[in-house]
Parts: sequence; C-alpha cells; structure tokens
Amino acid sequence: MDLPSHYAAGELVSVLTTQPIDRFLDYKAPEGGCMQGAFVQVPLGPRQVLGVIWGPGKGDFDYSKVRPVTKVLDAAPMREDMREFLLRAGDYTLTPMSAMLRLATRAPGLSDPPSMQKVYRLGDSEPDRMTDARRRVLEVLEEYGGLSFTLKELADMAGVSSGVVKGLVQHGAVREEQAPRDLPYPRMDTDRRGKPLTDSQAAAAARLTDGVKEGRYGTTLLRGVTGSGKTEVYLEAVAACLAAGRQALVMLPEIALSEQFLVRVEERFGAKPVEWHSGVTMTERRRAWKMIGHGEAQLVVGARSALFLPYRDLGLIVVDEEHDTSYKQEDGVHYNARDMAVLRASLAGARVVLASATPSLESWANADAGKYDRVDLDSRFGVAVLPTMQSIDMRAERMEPGRWISPSLASAVQARIAKGEQSLLFLNRRGYAPVTLCRACGEQIACDHCDARMVEHRFLKRLVCHQCGESRPMPTECPSCHVEGKLAAIGPGVERMAEEVAAVFPNAKTAVLSSDLFSSARALKEAIAEIAEGDVDIVIGTQLVAKGHNFPRLTLVGVIDADLGLQGSDLRAAERTFQLMRQVAGRAGRAEAPGEALLQTHQPEHPVIRAILTGDEEAFWQAEAEGRRAAGMPPYGRLAALILSATDAQVAFAAGQDLARRAGPLTAIGAQVFGPAPAPIARVRGRHRVRMLVKADKGTALQGAVAQWVGQLRPHKDLRVAVDIDPQSFY
Ligand code: ADP
Ligand code: ZN
Repeated sequence: MDLPSHYAAGELVSVLTTQPIDRFLDYKAPEGGCMQGAFVQVPLGPRQVLGVIWGPGKGDFDYSKVRPVTKVLDAAPMREDMREFLLRAGDYTLTPMSAMLRLATRAPGLSDPPSMQKVYRLGDSEPDRMTDARRRVLEVLEEYGGLSFTLKELADMAGVSSGVVKGLVQHGAVREEQAPRDLPYPRMDTDRRGKPLTDSQAAAAARLTDGVKEGRYGTTLLRGVTGSGKTEVYLEAVAACLAAGRQALVMLPEIALSEQFLVRVEERFGAKPVEWHSGVTMTERRRAWKMIGHGEAQLVVGARSALFLPYRDLGLIVVDEEHDTSYKQEDGVHYNARDMAVLRASLAGARVVLASATPSLESWANADAGKYDRVDLDSRFGVAVLPTMQSIDMRAERMEPGRWISPSLASAVQARIAKGEQSLLFLNRRGYAPVTLCRACGEQIACDHCDARMVEHRFLKRLVCHQCGESRPMPTECPSCHVEGKLAAIGPGVERMAEEVAAVFPNAKTAVLSSDLFSSARALKEAIAEIAEGDVDIVIGTQLVAKGHNFPRLTLVGVIDADLGLQGSDLRAAERTFQLMRQVAGRAGRAEAPGEALLQTHQPEHPVIRAILTGDEEAFWQAEAEGRRAAGMPPYGRLAALILSATDAQVAFAAGQDLARRAGPLTAIGAQVFGPAPAPIARVRGRHRVRMLVKADKGTALQGAVAQWVGQLRPHKDLRVAVDIDPQSFY
C-alpha cells in the first residue's frame, strides 16, 4: 500500500493508540505536520496517550470537533515493514492492534523530552603521568574515534575504576560534556576475526554468510550437536550482517543468565551488544528502543520481546535453542517468537537462523519439506566427543524406600569424585517433594485457588503452588483432619535429592541449581560461574541446567527419572522428553575428558528412551512425524485452543456449550471442535477453566473461522476468553 509520507498541519490522520479501544481514531495533524508512522501523544478523554500515525483519517466525524495531535515524539517513525508485521502478527494470533502496539512500545518515557547526562570523549592534552590504567582509557577513546561514552561504559571498556577517568578529566586528557541521555551504542568491530573454524564449521558458516549477503529473506535450520560450535558459526553470520551495514538480533531463552554469551560477543566484536530483557533498567530500555530505531544500535541480544523493537534495517535474526518452550508466550498475547521471527524477517528482507541440537518437529519438518535450508554440524569441536548414553533399569536395582539414586548411579558418581571430575544429577522438579500427604486421613494438600497440589519447599519452609505462586508456611498439622505430625513428603524434588546426596556422598561439595533458589539472576549467574570453575563435585539441577552453560569438568550426567516426561497425554511428550534428555546429556564431556550419561528408567524398552540412547535422531523424527501426520496433528494439521474462564464454573461451561452449538464457521472450513471440557488444571487463581480445541487441516483459513466463531459469544462480565493459535501446552 502506498501511503503519503507526510501530513500537513490540520490534515486528518488516523491514529492507533495503545488503549484497548478497538478502532483507529481521527486527529488533526499538529503544527508543523507529522510523518507517516510518527509516534505521537494524543488526547483521549481527559488523558494523553501514546499512539502512532497509521494513515490518512477517515473523516467520518465532524471536522471542527476533531482534536489535534498533542505532540510528535522524539523517535524514529514506525517503518512500513514494522507496521505490516504488527498487522500480520495481530491477524495470526487474533490479537487486537492496540495490544500489538503495546508490545511494540515497551519502553518507558518515550514521550519525555530528551534529558541530558555527562559523557566523556578524547581531550587534547596529555596527562602529567601515564599509567597502564590511564593508557587503556585513552586507547579505548582513540579506537572509537569521535565517540563519547558514559562514565560507566568507558570505565568498563577500559577495565578501570571510574576514578581513573575522572583523573584524566582533571588533566584535560579526557573531556567531560553534557549530551542527550540516549546515546548511540559503541560500534561493533567487524574487521576482527573470530576463532579459526574447522573445515565443517567453515562450510556451515559459509552457507549462512552467503545467505546473509543475498540480502533477502530465507531461513536456515542450523542443527549441531551440543558443543559443535553452532555459536561460533552463527556469529560469522552476524559479522556478515553487521559488515553489510544491517542490524542483527540474537534471541536466547533465559537471556538473563547468558553472561557467557555476552562475553563471547564482546570478544568477537570488541563491544557489548544491546541487551533486551526484563532485567534491563528503564533508562537503558528507552535508550535501546530509540537507538535501535535510529539504526545506532547494531546487535541486539534479547528475549522474545526483542522481536518487537523498531529496527531500522534488520538483516538477520538468530533464534538460539529454537526448540525451547520459553519462546511461546502463554499469557497476554499468545505468540511463538520463533514463528514470529520468521514472519518479521520475511517482511524485512532478513535471514533467519534457527539453531538447536534438538530442533522442534516443526522446524525439522519445514527443512524436510524444503521450506528451510538445513545445515548440520555432526561432531563436537576439538577433542570433545559426545557422551556415551546408557540406561539403568530401575526394576533391577535394589532401592531403599525414600531413595532415588540407584546403586549403579551412585558408584558412577563415586568414581567421578575420585578422579576430581563433576557429576550432574538431573531431576526436573523444583522443591522438596511434589506431594505432601497426611498419613492420618489421606489428604493431599492442595492450593485453595487452583486445581494443583502444593509443593513443599524446605529451604523456604513453605508450601508453594507452582500454578499461581501462592505460598504458605509449612503446617505442622493436617489442614483437613487437624492431626498433628502426620504430614509426609511423597516423591522427590531437587531439594530432597540434595539431602540424599549429602547422605550418600558426605564429603562431596554439592550445589543445587533450581530457579527458585536464587533471589536474583545475578546470584544464579554467580553460582553457575562457580560450578564452571570447578569448585563443585555434584550439581543437582532442574531443566535450568539443560540450557547452554559450559561446565568443563562435568563428565557424568545422571538422570534421576527419565520416565517423568513420558507420562501424560501431551501431544509433545515424546518430543520434549527426547529434546530435554539429549540436551541434559550434552552437558557432559565438553572438554578433554569424555562424558557419560546414565538414565534411570523403569521402561528401558520404551521407543523414546531407546531413541534417546541410540541418538538416532533422524529415525526418531521420522517416526514422530509419521505419527503426527497420520493423526492430522501439527505440524501436519493445525490446532487452536480456546480457554474460557470464570469464577463461576457454570458461566464458563455455558459459554463453551453455547459455542459448541454454533460451530458453523468452523465446520464451514472442515474443522472439528472438541469440548468444552474442564482443563487438566481446572482451576487457577480461583477461576474455573474450560478448554475447547479446534482441529483443522493445514492450509485452511483457521484464524478467520475462529474469530467468527468466538465473535458469537455474548459478553459476560465474569467471563474471560483467550485464544491460543498453535497451542504448545494443554494445561
Ligand atoms: P554449541 O553452540 O554448538 O554448543 P559452541 O559454539 O558453544 O557450541 O562451542 C563449544 C565450545 O567449543 C566453546 O567453548 C567454543 O568456544 C569452542 N569452540 C567451538 N569452535 C571452536 C573453534 N573453531 N575454535 C576454538 N574454539 C571453538
Ligand atoms: Zn494455586
């Protein structure tokens, strides 16, 4: 669509605001006019709200009563590809445009005038005395030519205290000036070389960089076993993108923990990338948002929300660990950042690299169908070899009650301790025990607001609901029969494993890695660094440890309960278990010492367990794909979920039954409707949840039909409706 690029003062413009009124509003362009896409402040009732100039006004309102735009904000106007992205992503996920705009403007203070701060640049006199620290500061400033830095940036880059910089200011060797707060970021040095690549890495890197240089959309699946050098390889693609003058985005799950990655980027390009995640300060967010819009930030490393930043010229998106479930946002706007990355790139003419050791079936199938290019790295870098994997048949082990480490696993751990190597015991369960049972009356303590058991967290001395986060002090008597001292912990959690480890290996130094045990991302980072340095014999961890950390001395991974993910009827149970087990096993033997993974299981002949052990990934995927194809399930068919919730269960059910009777729009596209049925977790935070599932053939116009179908619902003040296109979880 061709839009005028500028609107003269008084001309009618249509404005999309962040307010949940689902239509565009007419305003008059302000004095001086405004650009198409400009971010603006407009009056709405008594308030001033954020909006964006979306196009010419509709003029269906008395001109004399139309109010003018209050002011145009100091930010780069929204670009055409971004606007198209918001429209298409909103259509795909059935999200109102106001909510899409909120995703795209998650930076505070966008409407504040630019404020000033002190910055530092090269001065023109010599200091009286040259020290190493002073020389480093001056070198940084020389290297970056005319650029200026904040005190902290400069001191960090030179590796000196801020006092050193202040000293240089006194001598006039460094100049202190006032400058707008939102400064451009230091340039990335793309002339630097990365590590010399092996032949297979170089071939993979060439495939990726060739794609980037084409300057057109395309997606490559980079499948490489853990430790094969995927990161080194895709950083070459990043370098090619930056060298071409375009911006790059690397998305990571658990970005707040990705210290090692940030260090690698800095080593590779001589400067830190822009970080974008919930742990970033408000001022830094605003700076990042604005500079990305002006093209003054080259490389962004971020969480899924970084997709909605206003890139001026995006040339590459890397989705690392592309199979990771945290890319799917499941509250507010339901979207899958991996899929949205592909959409965004296709509109921006950018390349996508999906990197993983264990790709999602979706991406594997897209590569299989030729929609994505695929590049494989099949061996680990250097002398590191893939761990050998074996099962421990728990039916044959002599287990004491209340113990979960089998004698076979215990002796393998003992052997590692004797050699000064690390072991990881993996159990994907936070807390002390998943169930607290009253031995007097049989009651299992449950959350008052949810249909979930409370989980004992012994470090906190509390019971916690993993569904809603509600917690209460650990009781001494049963809340149901009030008998004292009969509460018993049933089953293991990581905290309980720590107890068992202390009993079985009294002299070992242990560390528990579970997201809830650390007050801050920083504390967790420190714990991870300590383990990497080797000061721990046994690590006990949840799936947190599966994600990309390098522990060089770790040579044994013991999976406490490999069957855990196989229970339940989740569509992706097999896929998830396979991915998680292979990822966890991949933690072992990343340096010289070879690694071993031992899986405790009661069903060693289960096809998924066998596939994990043999590592025959292609066979596993083929089998999984065939099963899904036969059942018409994703990625060979399409699903949409509807979650109706209300404080009164009857309201949610009645709404579901009403919709079930009016399935016309869905049957018109040949789709099937299942439900209403109580959700597996039927109550969360006091709201009763009812689910419906729509199943359609691939290639049908699912969203339009779902929108029409749900549109028939009569609004009810107690009823909340959420649509989840391509649902990943079914709780
Ligand atoms: P992946 O992302 O596939 O798990 P990484 O890129 O993290 O693999 O590489 C694993 C380890 O091997 C890292 O410590 C990395 O620095 C090192 N490495 C990989 N390739 C090379 C190379 N060509 N030269 C030197 N070190 C390398
Ligand atoms: Zn709860």
